[in-house]
Amino acid sequence: EDLLARIATYKIHTWLTQSSRISPVRCARNGWINIDCSTLKCPMCSAMLLAQIPDDLNDEEEVRWIGRLAQQLQSAHNTGCPWKGHACTSNVYSVPLATSRETVDEICQYTADLLKYCGQLPATDQPLSAFERGLLRNLQLKVFDVYKSTNEEPLTAEDSDVNSALLLALFGWRIDKEKSQPAVKCELCFRSAGLWLFQSTDDSNPARNVSANESSCTKRRFNVVEEHRAFCYW
Ligand SMILES: [Zn+2]
Ligand SMILES: [Zn+2]
Repeated sequence: EDLLARIATYKIHTWLTQSSRISPVRCARNGWINIDCSTLKCPMCSAMLLAQIPDDLNDEEEVRWIGRLAQQLQSAHNTGCPWKGHACTSNVYSVPLATSRETVDEICQYTADLLKYCGQLPATDQPLSAFERGLLRNLQLKVFDVYKSTNEEPLTAEDSDVNSALLLALFGWRIDKEKSQPAVKCELCFRSAGLWLFQSTDDSNPARNVSANESSCTKRRFNVVEEHRAFCYW
């Protein structure tokens, strides 16, 4: 829990250091939070660390610089800090696994939640095979049951909406309740994406959108994997 809270401090606009050796997860596992542009701070001992890779380094120097920073993640803590020389193990940060039964129930619940945005759900790109998509069709039926049990109004979603909601839910996307406009977020990498930025399932359905306008063509589809940040387990 604390680890996730620390990872959440690494925002896209304040964490520009793109290296898997000093990813937000790695820094957070060593106790650091991101307080300002590429600046790390330890809340326990107040030590600070600048993680901005200098522009003028050649490749070899950059590798060495990153290696040194990776060591400092442990050594830069002040004496007496519990993080000095220690880190959470890497398996602390992983997709929370549940039994398959629970997972199915949860996914259906998340999907039913997402269906509140029916009509605004994005057209999705996803890596599933035809066989796996076939399995999803069984899940759709269960989603309808879950939706009925938690909502009074009947579900008026098209198949494409249910499919989109199901894929979002499966790949870790949940409704972002902190946003005033429809948005989804990932609870592991804290990426939040406004749904209005993406092509909706309506736009990509020519039968329902005869006069496809320019703006809908320039919007991209929602790739359920690529929209996560690089270090995310999804
Ligand atoms: Zn410390
Ligand atoms: Zn993610």
